[in-house]
Amino acid sequence: MRSATPPFAPRVREPGETAVIAIDGPAASGKSSTAHWVAERLGFRHIDSGALYRAATAAAMRRQPAGGWAEGFVLEAAADVRLLPNRTSFIAAIGGEPIDAEIRDAGVTQYVSLVARMPGVRAWVNELVRDAAKGSDVVVDGRDIGTVVFPGADLKVFLVADPWERARRRLTQRLERAPTDDEIAEETERLVQRDSRDATQTVQAADAVLIDTTYLTQEEQVERIVTLARVVLRREA
Ligand code: C5P
Repeated sequence: MRSATPPFAPRVREPGETAVIAIDGPAASGKSSTAHWVAERLGFRHIDSGALYRAATAAAMRRQPAGGWAEGFVLEAAADVRLLPNRTSFIAAIGGEPIDAEIRDAGVTQYVSLVARMPGVRAWVNELVRDAAKGSDVVVDGRDIGTVVFPGADLKVFLVADPWERARRRLTQRLERAPTDDEIAEETERLVQRDSRDATQTVQAADAVLIDTTYLTQEEQVERIVTLARVVLRREA
């Protein structure tokens, strides 16, 4: 990490200092899968910060399914949420159990933006993410990684895509078939609503590289970011 400077400014990393690549953007812009593959290609670990907001929401839902939680209640429910390292990533877990299916649940998705607006929850997530990045080179995806969590990240990328295309990709992944136009229209509506609920916490850093993925394949997005990362990291070496 470095202090905030214009894109691609070379720097000398202190011994033991880890590298951070920040990938931010709105819902379904392909951040997580792109971050996963970039980490895999570079031999870094991937941290999905959204999974922590989702895990806190899931932990609160386990205790009180109907919502209406105060910040203190969510933080207490999330006390045994951890990021567990594996070879290529950090996985969100509750009580030592990975919880990937539970946190993708529609109920969690419905409430997560409310939980993510709680300042104490944001501080808690940021601390877990920064701790995880102490021991590994990381690719972190989220909404505010380049602005708040790692303002000195080595490379910052902000991914955007047309809402219709984001909805189409999300449904294709979920349904494992080509969605109809009506299905895409409904999903676009849901995504646009989530974009507006998340607007305050989704911020493009002034020194982020903006990539519009509407007409890019997954491989092309990954390739662009890996290429940028190699340039930046080589200059810093
Ligand atoms: O990325 P994902 O859709 O899984 O994130 C779930 C939710 O977590 C987002 O809708 C947003 O409300 C919140 N979030 C956030 N800041 C981050 C990552 C996610 O507010 N850095």
